[in-house]
Amino acid sequence: MDQFEALVARAAANGCCFDCGRSCHDHPWMSVQHAIVLCIQCAGVHRAFGVDVSFVRSIKLDTLTVKESALLECGGNPEFAAFLDERGEGVAAFLDTTVEHRYFSSIADLYRRRLAAKLVGGDLPNDLRPLSPRAAPPKRAPLSTIEWKPRLRAKRCEVCLKRFNIVRRRHHCRRCGRCVCEPCSPRECYRPLPPVVKPSRHCVSCVAKPSREN
Ligand SMILES: [Zn+2]
Ligand SMILES: [Zn+2]
Ligand SMILES: [Zn+2]
Repeated sequence: MDQFEALVARAAANGCCFDCGRSCHDHPWMSVQHAIVLCIQCAGVHRAFGVDVSFVRSIKLDTLTVKESALLECGGNPEFAAFLDERGEGVAAFLDTTVEHRYFSSIADLYRRRLAAKLVGGDLPNDLRPLSPRAAPPKRAPLSTIEWKPRLRAKRCEVCLKRFNIVRRRHHCRRCGRCVCEPCSPRECYRPLPPVVKPSRHCVSCVAKPSREN
């Protein structure tokens, strides 16, 4: 049994990405400081946070250090979720914010420090620190700046290029704003688009984008 299998055997929630909930069985990654399992796309998002906030490693492809393995053993997705429920505003509220706000929050910072202390057997910190300016989340254009194409102007689906007609109706991908047809934005491709919790229409090319990357 490899380390990932052991994690999943301990809690099935470790088999799904902490951030987006997708299955991680093919490519499980970890955020070292949070000891959580991420999918490959979300690991890419974490990489942009910088190694001080979230250092990512492939659980299957990298050779984890003793410290990284030990972190996975004392952490995991349910452990972080339980901490957020107990000490923060809850895991649902945490996941309802943008991915940057999640990991640049004081509560995530506290969890990182607690895990690091736990690893060396030190006293677990309890203080929520205000974030240093250095730890400010990267700036991004709000989603509302995405321009939707006027419906009548798009004659063809911008993904498959088939003509719209009575049967092939126009829809908007909530992520890129393009006019797309139903087969190019099926129900299975709906994904939450924070701050909207309810799954929103995504086109087939946007569905693979990491959470919240515009
Ligand atoms: Zn993910
Ligand atoms: Zn189409
Ligand atoms: Zn799209």
